Parts: sequence; structure tokens; C-alpha cells
Amino acid sequence: MKQLRAIRVLMGALFLLGVAVCLLLGTHVHPMARMAGAVQILVSASAVSAGVALFWLAVTFVFGRLYCASVCPVGVLSDIFLRVRRRIPRLNRPFTFRARSRLDVPLLWIYVVCVMVGLSVVVFAVQPYNIARNMASAMRPALTEATWGTLGLGAAVGIATGVVSFIIIAVTSVLRGREFCTRWCPLGTALGIVQERALMHIEFDPDRCRSCGLCEARCRAQAIKMVSRYVDQTRCVRCFDCVADCPNGAIKYQLNRNRPASPLMRKVGSKQ
Ligand code: SF4
Ligand code: SF4
Ligand code: SF4
Repeated sequence: MKQLRAIRVLMGALFLLGVAVCLLLGTHVHPMARMAGAVQILVSASAVSAGVALFWLAVTFVFGRLYCASVCPVGVLSDIFLRVRRRIPRLNRPFTFRARSRLDVPLLWIYVVCVMVGLSVVVFAVQPYNIARNMASAMRPALTEATWGTLGLGAAVGIATGVVSFIIIAVTSVLRGREFCTRWCPLGTALGIVQERALMHIEFDPDRCRSCGLCEARCRAQAIKMVSRYVDQTRCVRCFDCVADCPNGAIKYQLNRNRPASPLMRKVGSKQ
């Protein structure tokens, strides 16, 4: 299972590099870099954007939030800050389970309404790929002309939005891991609703678990509650840390659901 995490890290690095190259150098770059930008989920009226969004909904329904794991530049950036956190002993405290925010779905609806009434300023500020675009605009102000400029707002607004977004992602990631992804991002909430019904999921094997708590302590989405052998399937961002680090192979990425461990309830003579 360590291979899954290695693939996630490698893919994340490649996609982030591709997006950065696209945003900073323009579209006249290597086709592989263009591809990293083309597969991003965007809210727009174009058929291409709708096709990409449908593709990721289908992927999420089968495998879970792989988009959040490796493809979204904001998610990968958040993971980079998490690595910084792990190198600072004072900050590197174990994560603990946090209940799902009651605001996530209302925020998603507010976002949908803003999109429907054409409140582009919200889309430009909150949509993950636009967050990356705003961050890059500090180095390439012409980028903001294509977005904020069309609203009659100057490049300075786009750059300021990018700087504020960068600070928010950096601080929340260092303090709380994938905080933005699991509580505030409307796209993450939408993908989480689909992921709750995904075919593949992160699953405890109660018979193997020794209650060491390592998986909960490592979970950047704070989605694991070890005492209940519970994984919040809506918030998991498929980082695969739990499956890679469990010393007993007791948490897995699999198709099947496990039965609850309860040896006292087994039938006498049962071999299982
Ligand atoms: S939750 Fe949002 S910001 Fe986070 S990785 Fe997913 S799409 Fe990107
Ligand atoms: S790391 Fe493995 S053994 Fe430890 S609590 Fe999690 S599932 Fe159980
Ligand atoms: S449940 Fe596991 S795979 Fe999902 S975010 Fe937490 S540690 Fe990562």
C-alpha cells in the first residue's frame, strides 16, 4: 500500500509543476504541461469544462477524491505546507478526529447560487484553480486581466486575492492539515458527497487493528476516529497515509465493506 502513497506524491508533484508552468509561461508550453491545466475542474459554460467535471465525478464515484489527492493545485500546495509542519516539532502534533462541519453543505449551496446568478467575483476568488491562478498572478499580472480585468477590477485586486489566499492556505495547512479542503472548499464538499457513495473506500479491518492510534494521528483530513473504527468517507482526501503507515495492515483501500469485529458474537464452532 506504500506504492499508492508514492504514486499520489509523484502525480501531485507532476500536476503542480504542469499547472505552474502553464500559469506562469502561458499556453505555449509542452503539451504535458497543458494537459495538467486542461484536466482541472472549472465552473464555466463551456462543453469542455462540463466534460472534465463529469469525468472527475465518475472517477470520484469509483475511486474517491483522487482529484483532491493529486490533481488540484491547492490540495497539493496544502500537502507541501503539511510537510513543512512535520519538520517543525512544536507544530507537529498528532491530528485528532473532528466532526464534519455543519457549514460545508450550506456553503456549497451559497456557491451554487452565486454561480447561477453570475456572481463571477465569487467564482474567481473561491474556485480552486482560480485560487492557484490568483496566486500565480503576483508573478504574472497579465493573468488577472483575463479574470478580474473582465469584471472591471484592476490587476491589484487579483494579486491581493492571490496573496491572501496563499496566506490562508499556508496557515490553515500548517495548523490543521487539509482544513480548507475539508471545511471550506465548495468543490471538495461536492466531491465528498459523491465519495460517500464511492465503490472504493478506506476501511478498517477490526480484527487486525491494535488501537495504536497512528492512523488518526496521521490523517490530514482529521477524518479518522480510531475508537469507533470510523472513517468519514466524505472528507477523506485519499492521501493514503493511513494505509501506508498502519503497522498491522489494518486499514485498507478496498472495494468491500468489513464486518464489525465482535468475537463474542461469533457462532460456536465458526472458523471465521
Ligand atoms: S477540496 Fe477543493 S481545494 Fe482541496 S483539493 Fe479538493 S478541489 Fe482542491
Ligand atoms: S494505525 Fe492500524 S493498528 Fe493503529 S489504530 Fe490505525 S488501523 Fe489500528
Ligand atoms: S482517511 Fe486515510 S487516506 Fe483519507 S485523508 Fe485520512 S489518512 Fe488520508
